[in-house]
Amino acid sequence: MSKKYDVVVIGAGPAGYIAAIRAAQHGLKTACIDEWQNRDGKYAFGGTCLNAGCIPSKALLESSELYHRAQHEFKKHGISTGDVNMDIAGMQKRRAGIVRQLTGGIAGLFKANKVDGLVGHGKLLTDRQVEFTPVDGEPEIIDAKHVILASGSAPIELPFAKFDGVDIVDSWDALEFDAIPERMGVIGAGVIGLELGSVWARLGSKVTILEAMGDFLFMADRDVASVAGKDFKKQGLDIRLGAKVTSATVTDGVVTVAYDDAQGSQRIEVDKLVVAVGRRPYTDGLFSEDSGIATDGRGFIEVDDECRTRVKEVYAIGDCVRGPMLAHKGSEEGVMVADLIAGELAEVNYNVIPSVIYTAPEIAWVGKTEAEVQQSGRPYKTGSFPFAASGRAKAMEQTTGMVKVIAAEDDDEILGVHIVGPMAGELIGEAVLALEFSASTEDIQRTIHAHPSLSEAVHEAALAADKRALNYMNR
Ligand code: FAD
Ligand code: NAD
Repeated sequence: MSKKYDVVVIGAGPAGYIAAIRAAQHGLKTACIDEWQNRDGKYAFGGTCLNAGCIPSKALLESSELYHRAQHEFKKHGISTGDVNMDIAGMQKRRAGIVRQLTGGIAGLFKANKVDGLVGHGKLLTDRQVEFTPVDGEPEIIDAKHVILASGSAPIELPFAKFDGVDIVDSWDALEFDAIPERMGVIGAGVIGLELGSVWARLGSKVTILEAMGDFLFMADRDVASVAGKDFKKQGLDIRLGAKVTSATVTDGVVTVAYDDAQGSQRIEVDKLVVAVGRRPYTDGLFSEDSGIATDGRGFIEVDDECRTRVKEVYAIGDCVRGPMLAHKGSEEGVMVADLIAGELAEVNYNVIPSVIYTAPEIAWVGKTEAEVQQSGRPYKTGSFPFAASGRAKAMEQTTGMVKVIAAEDDDEILGVHIVGPMAGELIGEAVLALEFSASTEDIQRTIHAHPSLSEAVHEAALAADKRALNYMNR
């Protein structure tokens, strides 16, 4: 007899494992299937985010930032250290340890919430039947009342720079280098290119990033992108815009990358080439042809606003469906779908999803950019406050950047908040809440912010929108 569940989730990344836990918390009998295998051969829950994405990248960003600051900033504080050395094996051991702890934590959460975590491959057949093939056993059929597909994404491969796992690599390999490449090339100055470029540049690599677009960080507010771009240049990141890569060839461990830009044909030689040009939805072997699931032209599973596929009681969430490929977006879709299955009202506010780039300075935003507001035709006002005028930022020796608030001229509603500077990824939380509650700049102006704190910069930027900044000249 086949096993029966109320909910079967395929994929235990941040979208799937959160959906499974939430469903079980509703009292639904739930299983979550995943086949992720790490480089040490061990299977682990947590998907890309915990094993090869968000978490390991932030571990390395922290280590490399501390190394960089010890070398370049400690002196200003009066601290002398002698020579500062980086032990790459030690740094990588810490990264692997954090990943192990957090992925093991999901297995613990599954147990505590009575989710059956099943290790192996899941495939949706017809009539909400799921074929589960354990990593060490024969396929079996599971009957589910509801199925949630959460199979995630995979890096995009360029036909002229195919991954070989050694010289031309994806972001996962670039997180696990066991030595500092003398020269590192990156194709794509997006989020991964900037984060991983920063890591290895801080450790001593000469990093060149080739970006096809003519505008730096085209998806960010122009003021923020301009501050960040100048600072990255000062840090030694060589970002070349309008660079159309045409080939990458490996000879004796040296990668020659050819590209065209406004000046003509160019080439660089690097020891490692990281290709970070975006990710594609991953749905290989996820559903049978007769399952009824449809994908769009780019391979995303087609869903409506509530993540329902065309098949009754089958949902899809996270990176394998439309929308930004972000862990927190997938997790919120997981919560929404589990709540809908339990018969509750639920929705995801797709207009209020924060973006954070964990470089130094950090970059974070929520809502519309100034260009988007301009385009909408709605009259607006802006207020900015530089971290150079923040006592806390000065004490931290991190004064680059600013907070920029954009609000409607008519009713003062906050439409977007853009931050480049220290702890931008933490500061954006207040702005996310403000947008979620449709707050006005006056709401933030009248809210007490602790002194001295970086959050005062958000307060002052909101005041500046009405030319009422108190610690900076109004313009
Ligand atoms: P995934 O995390 O990809 O998980 C999908 C899971 O499904 C995998 O474990 C896979 O093994 C499993 N699976 C797929 N098909 C099957 C099948 N048929 N049977 C069984 N199992 C299957 N996002 C952020 O928000 N913040 C960050 O700081 C951030 N940093 C990142 C850094 C890097 C280097 C990368 C690559 C990504 C980063 N992301 C970040 C993006 C984030 O990792 C993804 O948005 C997120 O992991 C998507 O979650 P998901 O659950 O949809 O998919
Ligand atoms: P991305 O979309 O952020 O950036 C890709 C960049 O590559 C773009 O700037 C694009 O113009 C450029 N590009 C594309 N094709 C090119 C080519 N042929 N030559 C040169 N440049 C080219 O994608 P990513 O950096 O690979 O990241 C993938 C996903 O992972 C993103 O959707 C991102 O949201 C997510 N992610 C998020 C975080 C975070 O939240 N901090 C961190 C890492 C990754």
